[in-house]
Amino acid sequence: MHIQSKLPNVGTTIFTVMSGLANQVGAINLSQGFPNFNPSGRLQSLVTEHMAKGANQYSPMPGILPLRERIAEKIRLMYGASVDPETEITITAGGTQAIFCAIAAFVRPGDEVILLEPCYDSYRPSVETVGGVVVPISLSAPDYQVDWEEVKKCITPRTRMLCINTPQNPTGTILRESDMLQIQELLRGTDVILMSDEVYEHLIYDGEQHASALRYPDLYARTLAIYSFGKTYHNTGWKTGYCVAPPELTREFRKVHQFNVFSANHPMQAAFADFMADPAEYLGLPEFYQQKRDFFLQAMSATRFKPLTCAGAYFQLFDYAHISDEPDLAFCKRLTTEFGVAAIPVSSFYSDLKDEKVIRLCFAKTEDLLAQAGERLAKV
Ligand code: GLN
Repeated sequence: MHIQSKLPNVGTTIFTVMSGLANQVGAINLSQGFPNFNPSGRLQSLVTEHMAKGANQYSPMPGILPLRERIAEKIRLMYGASVDPETEITITAGGTQAIFCAIAAFVRPGDEVILLEPCYDSYRPSVETVGGVVVPISLSAPDYQVDWEEVKKCITPRTRMLCINTPQNPTGTILRESDMLQIQELLRGTDVILMSDEVYEHLIYDGEQHASALRYPDLYARTLAIYSFGKTYHNTGWKTGYCVAPPELTREFRKVHQFNVFSANHPMQAAFADFMADPAEYLGLPEFYQQKRDFFLQAMSATRFKPLTCAGAYFQLFDYAHISDEPDLAFCKRLTTEFGVAAIPVSSFYSDLKDEKVIRLCFAKTEDLLAQAGERLAKV
């Protein structure tokens, strides 16, 4: 039998490759983005309580209403926007599933989707699975600034979607109000949908405000905004997130979502609904992670790696061009096997594997581990 791959150029995601290698050689894993500490004990107890009380069967397809109501309250508090929990919020099996559904619901064969690279590695395969064509815009180290005039030039009658991510994985850069207003103008009068990946919404530092697409009513009218409980509550393995979009977009999103996973994990949703009643946990996140970023930068100051600016997310980029001319993938593998610290090569976030000799390290880790990683990398 001849199998015609829909994704001929796709191998195994770099996160699985690097985490696998880290586990195999017992390296400190700063590659895949996940915390090495547990979520709140109270949140864990709430899950088991809800299991004992019977939240073990399918949740309603769009998610349980109490959780969607808590999310709407949070959106009002954080972004001053009013969204209807019934018609504008859908609970998903994590951010990546939400991204896939957002793309699959709107992108037809031949439609163009603009990606600002380096970007999260699920975007391109999601577009290609449904026959879309990726139009990559290549941002560059050290600041990865977006030239909105260049983006404007890429918009054609075939453009169906623009994908943005703020704070951005892997760069740790953020879009600000001026960027969002430019996007709003750029897309005015077009049929282009905005996929705004905001899974790191609370991981933003140095007193900056997250410029959510939900803050700008004209922009929101064409937006699917994606969020992740895993990033906010330190439980990436619970695979729970949500999508916020105006009713007409949510209607289409749910058509795909219901036949993709039907619904997300039920006991987790019930637990999050209770836990979210107190906003203190997410309001404290910027400080919590900024402290980790600064601790890690301190630990890395004894190394030869040059840090780039990290304004958000839990990734710190480092330039190593003055240390080695090895390609970044080979360099990351060698850091893992020879020095015992696993990193992600930034080239894997570009369609053309652009290699600027930059690596990504995740600092969502306890201080002992970050300190130990710094010591090991000081030997490089
Ligand atoms: N978003 C996380 C990262 O960038 C991991 C996602 C994944 O492994 N699928 O590292």
